[in-house]
Amino acid sequence: MASLTETQSMIIATAEAVAEQFGPDYWREHDEREAYPEDFITALAEHGFFGLTVPEPLGGSGQGLVELVLVMEALCRGGGGGGPALGYLFGLLGTMTLSHAAKTEHQLENLKALASGERLCAFALSEPDAGTNSFNISTTAVERGDDYVINGAKWFITNLQHSQRLLLVTQTRQLESSESCGLSLFLVDLPSEALSFSPTPKHGFNYYKSNQLFIDNLVVPKSSMIGEPGKGFASLAPTLNAERLLVAAGAVGTARLALQAAVNYAKEREVFRGPIGGHQAIQHPLAAAHAKLEAAWLTVLEAASLDDEGTRPERAAGMANVAKYVAVEAAIDACYQSLQTYGGAGYAREYHQERWWREVQLFRLAPLTQQMTLNFIGQHVLGLPKSY
Ligand SMILES: Cc1cc2nc3c(=O)[nH]c(=O)nc-3n(C[C@H](O)[C@H](O)[C@H](O)COP(=O)(O)OP(=O)(O)OC[C@H]3O[C@@H](n4cnc5c(N)ncnc54)[C@H](O)[C@@H]3O)c2cc1C
Repeated sequence: MASLTETQSMIIATAEAVAEQFGPDYWREHDEREAYPEDFITALAEHGFFGLTVPEPLGGSGQGLVELVLVMEALCRGGGGGGPALGYLFGLLGTMTLSHAAKTEHQLENLKALASGERLCAFALSEPDAGTNSFNISTTAVERGDDYVINGAKWFITNLQHSQRLLLVTQTRQLESSESCGLSLFLVDLPSEALSFSPTPKHGFNYYKSNQLFIDNLVVPKSSMIGEPGKGFASLAPTLNAERLLVAAGAVGTARLALQAAVNYAKEREVFRGPIGGHQAIQHPLAAAHAKLEAAWLTVLEAASLDDEGTRPERAAGMANVAKYVAVEAAIDACYQSLQTYGGAGYAREYHQERWWREVQLFRLAPLTQQMTLNFIGQHVLGLPKSY
């Protein structure tokens, strides 16, 4: 990628300034209390970060995916670690999908409210039997007059407690027919009496509750469907590509923060003679982690540029998967080396290494597992037979 434009440099500086206001102690304290970072999310909204890629006439600033990954990386690197990543990512999925697919007045009005951060939209795709295999969804939406009636169950649905809308992925294929995978998307108002949920205690990212969701006879008007009936996956596809790159950027930002902390510590900490950073057993892993992160970051920027150009969609999709894979692996290595550099202190909550280590693991598992990025690269980039 060419050097940064003036606008991009300004966007990075703004994101860094926001990140600085909410440094590592803020996130440690919220993680321990399992408290939602309300004031951080408000700051993102105030700076227009939720509407960054929304077209200007719809209340956004009409930027591209490159700018979005620059913001994500800066928020994480600038002090947040993984903390900002899930809040920002899940605040963007509904917005990005509506940006591509909103048609009705009601949907456009919602998009404006999401772009300004006045409303937040959670995203419900995963089910106990439909995570990696999202076509296996069994939450059904059945036509009834001018409405659809939705029933089913989802899991791991993040931030329902703080969202006013839900992008809900359902199956509209009639159960007796089997001619298409038939996914359909709905934009649903929250809260709703037909929706009940409870959080699943988890390993990290305790600022954001991830929930089991039960949907019991939820009635929604046909106008709340986004995109075509049964063709919801087409409306989701561009968002899922962006999602991979946002995760990659969050991983790189988190790891750069962890690595910088380790470098500072290695310059100061003396155990035998001189600082521990003078030993190759400490220095080389940190240097190697830095090299891998730099290479991964260039890949993320290249993949985001390809997506923005829009002229080579197959290459863009391949690079998004490559970027997600290498960025997450590089980030996990860097966070591990950072923790190791701190010795026993790395394991203590007082420092931040153990939290960043917990957080960065998630990016291997969600929203898309590393195995599925390799399946994509194997099949669509290398041209190997589909392996599953
Ligand atoms: C903290 C957290 C927050 C989340 N938030 C949300 C959210 O807000 N909304 C939402 O919809 N979802 C959310 N998810 C769900 C997440 O997207 C899924 O967990 C993820 O897609 C993996 O699905 P799964 O857990 O069902 O794993 P499974 O599908 O059960 O897979 C299990 C393992 O098998 C591997 N595997 C399966 N098939 C293959 C294959 N063909 N080849 C190679 N390996 C394979 C997988 O890679 C994985 O390692 C969240 C998850 C977590 C942990």
